[in-house]
Amino acid sequence: MSARPERLRVEGIAPGSVRVGGRAPASSDPLILAGPCAIESEEQALRIARRVAASGATGFRGGAFKPRTSPYDFQGLGEEGLAILARVRRETGLLICTEALDGEHLDAVARVADVVQIGSRNMDNPSLLARAGRCGRPVLLKRGFAATLDELLLAAEYVVANGNPRVLLCERGIRTFCDHSRATLDLHAVLRLRARTGLPVLVDPSHAAGLRADVLPLARAAAAVGADGVLVEVHDRPEEALCDGPQAISPDELDQLVGDVRALGGARPLGRCAS
Ligand code: PEP
Ligand code: MN
Repeated sequence: MSARPERLRVEGIAPGSVRVGGRAPASSDPLILAGPCAIESEEQALRIARRVAASGATGFRGGAFKPRTSPYDFQGLGEEGLAILARVRRETGLLICTEALDGEHLDAVARVADVVQIGSRNMDNPSLLARAGRCGRPVLLKRGFAATLDELLLAAEYVVANGNPRVLLCERGIRTFCDHSRATLDLHAVLRLRARTGLPVLVDPSHAAGLRADVLPLARAAAAVGADGVLVEVHDRPEEALCDGPQAISPDELDQLVGDVRALGGARPLGRCAS
């Protein structure tokens, strides 16, 4: 690849040009991807997915491969989880968003996923980003805990430069000195990212808040600043969840979130911000 260009390719992408499931996410018609942190069983995934579909959300999220801090925690069902996601897709018609943890499983993930998630721990993994550029699916790229916006955009550039302009950026909270939340949700990043690129910008309030009570207000705030979508964790039996139960909202709360995010995004479309 040649030396760094004057202007990154991601900065030349026009608003509205990234399509997911046939449409371009926008703050006035946001992409809402909802579901459990992890696929735990076929029964759990289908049960929750039916509620997600009924809420009017666009897609179902759920990890088959989980990047856990501890090697002793549940790591996901792997290939079996992907088969369950394929069934969810067939039965509900929801778009599927699921994470590719490594190059070894990327192709298998891309066969099932409508959106391939690259997690925050992998934002700094150039070989995985390059492969995601060749996977043929839209890529949801989560900001690393300690990444600047330049670093996030350069990670997106890896995907785009390898042939895939369909990247969705996701702010999911960063590490700061604050100890009142799991991470600090940087909503200002939504404004700055939308100023620099036409890529859709999503917000994940779940991993930022770390507690369910704060997820809905933060999702509303994200919509109010013009986020093009929300990635949110939902569980109907959070006390039984194998991963991230304390931050999972209920299906009833998801109904509320979908209505509120649509109303706030549509009521005051902000368009592009000045750079
Ligand atoms: C997730 O979305 O389930 C996840 C693991 O997120 P992050 O990579 O932002 O921690
Ligand atoms: Mn999670």
